[in-house]
Amino acid sequence: MIEQTTEKVELLSLSKDELEVLVASLGEPKYRAKQLFSQLHAGTSPEEMTNIGKATRAKLEGASYYSLPIIKRKLVSAIDGTVKYLFELRDGNCVESVVMNYHHGLTICISSQVGCRMGCAFCASTLGGRVRDLTPGELLGQVIAASKDMGVRISNIVMMGIGEPLDNYDNVVKFLQLVNDPEGICIGTRHISLSTCGLADKIDRLAKENMQITLSVSLHAADDETRSSIMPVNRKFNTDALLSACRRYYESTGRRISFEYTLINKKNDSDEDAKRLADLLNGKLRSRTSGMPIHVNLIPVNAVKETGCMPPPRDRVKRFSQILEKYGIRATVRRTLGQDINASCGQLRRESAKNEDK
Ligand code: SAH
Repeated sequence: MIEQTTEKVELLSLSKDELEVLVASLGEPKYRAKQLFSQLHAGTSPEEMTNIGKATRAKLEGASYYSLPIIKRKLVSAIDGTVKYLFELRDGNCVESVVMNYHHGLTICISSQVGCRMGCAFCASTLGGRVRDLTPGELLGQVIAASKDMGVRISNIVMMGIGEPLDNYDNVVKFLQLVNDPEGICIGTRHISLSTCGLADKIDRLAKENMQITLSVSLHAADDETRSSIMPVNRKFNTDALLSACRRYYESTGRRISFEYTLINKKNDSDEDAKRLADLLNGKLRSRTSGMPIHVNLIPVNAVKETGCMPPPRDRVKRFSQILEKYGIRATVRRTLGQDINASCGQLRRESAKNEDK
């Protein structure tokens, strides 16, 4: 099914410099690259570019491709207007993106891989393993396709959809540079957060990139035994290694880190778990940095049929959060948007794959 176009370069994955090289190789003047970059990132395909001559367009189409994800399904929440897309990529694989309306503007949650190989026990995205990484252009394509479809400017990005962004490191960093470009979509890195299950070595690498993004760390347990039982990554980078990387990240970037804690009934939601979490964060971070702000997002787990994980009763969530506050840790119970459209990641893609298997 895949035509010879596989060797063609993907226009949306190219930096301006790389685009210049391509344009020059086609015998076109360099200034075209800038013009092209802006138009491509605004969602215009080369064939729609009437300001470029037919012959040039034909040369471009011979050497490259431009492909935005196709909307395979779109669900709009009747409760809060959250929009969830099931996007089909050029090779037929699907990923999900969600657009949420927060008070500070429209935020898109994008996927970083087709599937995931991290194996977290409660997560739908990892059930079928990792199929492949997304290219920088496919990461960008989700933002462009959603803005184009909704006719809006999206001002914030969270990398919290399907996949582990730091397991697709190079493409993610290139995407961050592309999306930040003033001649492109121009979303400030301060308006971008990246969520990781805790690849400590990559957190150290990211600290050196000198970007102002916000890091979210999925902690989900404060002791190694529990954490390893729900997050296999903990066997490679335990809580000590992870929090040490977090401390270094804060020390070198000055950016606060937020911690995600998914509450699972009878697994990690007891009073002792809350106390352990507060002790861990206070001991490993607060006492060793000069006043690092620490914030915990508590997320009652979304029940995914295959995982058997259930959310705790509501009063347990409240109590957990009160214990954290008592020990000086700011905690928010995550507002769940788009509950009526299965907006948590990975569920729509799985549903669609299952239907196609039938
Ligand atoms: N791989 C990255 C980003 C994707 S998951 C990470 O692990 O952070 C985004 C967040 O959703 C993570 O905190 C993840 O643990 C959480 N999550 C996954 N499945 C969930 C579920 N069923 N209910 C609640 N949160 C879930």
